[in-house]
Amino acid sequence: MHANLLLARLPTAARDRLDRRLEPVDLLRGQVLQRAEEPTRFAYFPTSGLVSLLALTAEGPTLELASVGHDGVVGVPVILQTSRTPYQAVVQISGAARRLRADLLTAELGDSPALRDACLRYASQSLREVGQSTVCHHFHPLSERLCRWLLSASDRVHSDTLALTHENLAQVLGVPRTAVSMAAGDLQRAEAIRCRRGSIVIVNRRRLEVSACSCYAADREDFRLTPPPGDTRVLPSVRPIP
Ligand SMILES: [Zn+2]
Repeated sequence: MHANLLLARLPTAARDRLDRRLEPVDLLRGQVLQRAEEPTRFAYFPTSGLVSLLALTAEGPTLELASVGHDGVVGVPVILQTSRTPYQAVVQISGAARRLRADLLTAELGDSPALRDACLRYASQSLREVGQSTVCHHFHPLSERLCRWLLSASDRVHSDTLALTHENLAQVLGVPRTAVSMAAGDLQRAEAIRCRRGSIVIVNRRRLEVSACSCYAADREDFRLTPPPGDTRVLPSVRPIP
C-alpha cells in the first residue's frame, strides 16, 4: 500500500506505471525542496513528514501559505504547467517522499487521465488552503492560529509529538520567535502542550481544539475528505470559540 494518499488512490495500472519512475528520498527538517522563482526540477510525493510552502519577504520573515503531507504533492506549479513558483517549499517535519522529475511528471500528466484528474483535484484543494491561510493570518490572533497549526500538523503526521522548534513555528506563523514562545508558554501552563528541546507534544487535544480558530474546522473537513486508508479515527466535534 502506498503511504502517499494521492498515489494510493490512483487506479492500479496508472500507479504501476508511475511506480517505476519514482525515486525514494528522505526529507530532512530545514531542507529546501523548491526555491522561490527557480525552475522546478522535481515533484515530491511525501509519504511522511510535513512540508511548508512559505511566502518570502524582502525583510526576511516568512509565512506559510499551505502545507503538504502524505495527502498531497509538492509540485502544483508542474501540474498547472508553470515552470516557476513564487513560494519556497521547506521541510518542516522530517519524513520521506517519492520524487519524480518535473519533465517526467509533465509527460505522465499528458498520458494518464487518472493521474491528471487526481493532481488537478489536489491543486484545487491546495489553492483553497492558500485562501484559508490568508483569512487566518489576517483575522485570527496568534494564539488561535498556533493551536490550529499544531492540530492540523498533528492530523497530517498522525502523531501528537511534533518534532519541530519555536523557530519553525515562527517561520510558518510569520511572527518573531519570542512571540511564539510566549503563546506556547501560555498553552503549556494550560497543560495543553508540553515543549521539549526540539519537539512539542500535544497532551490535551480537546483544550487545543477549543482554543483554535474556526479555520481548524475547515482543515478537519479536508481531512475527512482524505482520510488515510485504514484510519478509522472519529474526530471529535469542535466547539465554536465563544
Ligand atoms: Zn484561522
